[in-house]
Amino acid sequence: MGSIEECDVVVVGAGFGGLYSLYLLRQEGFDVRGLERGTGVGGTWYWNRYPGARCDVESLQYSYSFDPELQQEWEWTERYAGQPEILRYAEHVSDRFDLESLIAFKTNVEAADYDESTSTWTVSTNRDTYRARFLVAATGCLSTTNLPEFEGLANFEGDVYHTGRWPHKTVDFTGQRVAVVGTGSSAVQAIPVLAEQASELTVFQRTPNYSVPARNEPLDPVVQAETKESYDELRQAARVERSGIISIFPPNEDSAKQADNTEFNNRMDERWEHGGFGFYRAYADIGIDPTSNERIAEYVRGQITQVVDDPETARLLAPTNTIACKRPCLDTHYYETFNSQHVHLVDISEGGIEEITRTGLKAAGQDFEFDALVFATGFDAMTGALLNMNITGKDGCTLGDAWSAGPRTYLGLGVPEFPNLFTVTGPGSPSVLTNMIMAIEQHVEWIRDCLVAMRRQDLTTIEATATAADSWVDHVNSIADQTLYPTCNSWYLGANIPGKTRVFMPLIGYPPYAEKCKQVAENNYEGFRLG
Ligand code: NAP
Repeated sequence: MGSIEECDVVVVGAGFGGLYSLYLLRQEGFDVRGLERGTGVGGTWYWNRYPGARCDVESLQYSYSFDPELQQEWEWTERYAGQPEILRYAEHVSDRFDLESLIAFKTNVEAADYDESTSTWTVSTNRDTYRARFLVAATGCLSTTNLPEFEGLANFEGDVYHTGRWPHKTVDFTGQRVAVVGTGSSAVQAIPVLAEQASELTVFQRTPNYSVPARNEPLDPVVQAETKESYDELRQAARVERSGIISIFPPNEDSAKQADNTEFNNRMDERWEHGGFGFYRAYADIGIDPTSNERIAEYVRGQITQVVDDPETARLLAPTNTIACKRPCLDTHYYETFNSQHVHLVDISEGGIEEITRTGLKAAGQDFEFDALVFATGFDAMTGALLNMNITGKDGCTLGDAWSAGPRTYLGLGVPEFPNLFTVTGPGSPSVLTNMIMAIEQHVEWIRDCLVAMRRQDLTTIEATATAADSWVDHVNSIADQTLYPTCNSWYLGANIPGKTRVFMPLIGYPPYAEKCKQVAENNYEGFRLG
């Protein structure tokens, strides 16, 4: 039985959100503790060590902006940083600002209970217990892995991996027969690298995904130096851009369906050649107009047909659903990989994985034998990590009960019935639909300002009102309903997890959101009850 530690704020998670929370709150003189289940910092980039893991936001923009010296001194080596480099960056930040001394590692939150009589949270872990006025959940949007309950999985005698929980050692697949289940962003990155090692690689695809080339390359030192010279302008421009990312292509205002063929093809070719998410900003109406969307989808299908030699494989790889209503993928030679003789694609859209056997698996009416199974089956996104903490608020109300019809937050920051709990990039905030680090900085700075304002006014509790949360959830949904996002079975909707309530969780539109948060604070935290 561990000890009970008293402090002002407990921050759960030592990824980018947790690290910045610890840094800012300590700076304001709060006694703050970090709890992290891993053995080191980095969050997403600590766990997702699968071959090929790489961020698909460009490295110069997927980084903290809060410290001018930090952003000047850190040297990125590639256009898109790989997982080892991002993890080194997180470790560097932690060392540079001496954050590790605030964090209890290998510490898993088992329960968090709010005590109304003292207005404090008791956070129970597998080690010590913590009692704090405030609880900040910086637990990440994609941190609870989803490993579906495949029949017979325990019987498999080979090695089993999940991309989101990759072992902390080198895994060498040389000479092995490897299966990959899933074709989302993680798989799209892992498959080309696994194919370099495996003797046979078989990909089990339930739904094909659209992927655009990343065109990763070593970062040009001149580009890096120039960016650093005008970093403030770049960051400022990103904050007023929906994606939080500045592309060399300005976002266009025109419609894809109205473009003439030559203009359309030239524009799409240019963006396809350049690579990256700027492809999806070629026309303003990709996300709202089905005809425009289909035209761009057809362009990508045309690229797949050109790249993939075998017509049947190309047909299976070509998605037919709305483009970009699931999170788009960026790749390095994904489609090309299927031209290798030892890489096979199995369509499991009809029957799924039927069974895992001692030596492999059954799917599409066939038996397959493997040495290793790699599950790239994604995450219980946005709510999984929060619900796993077994949080209980006022009157014994559990977060699971409060969210049985889907997550209900105000601004993705506060939850009615759960006073003094803050969710960093929680459901109802733009989070995964914008540059995550930018979104994290905005949230953590808002939380810092809130705690400082409360201290100044001698206040001890803050709680989102039910009315504010209800109208916020309506707002998030009404914006999503104006787009094509709800037309796919995406993890944005919780549709990837059997039984999860289907509701669109992130808010579309970062700049108006940040403005709204600012106004709420200026109006003495309108929509929150202060006590
Ligand atoms: P994902 O996008 O949810 O993809 C999971 C894949 O597994 C899908 O192809 C899914 O098929 C399949 N799958 C799930 N359950 C299955 C089952 N029971 N049987 C067969 N197939 C099943 O997960 P992810 O690839 O890990 O990516 C999640 C998110 O993480 C991304 O969307 C992105 O936001 C983030 N991410 C980012 C990066 C980056 O920055 N580069 C890299 C990786 C991940 P269905 O489509 O049919 O459900």
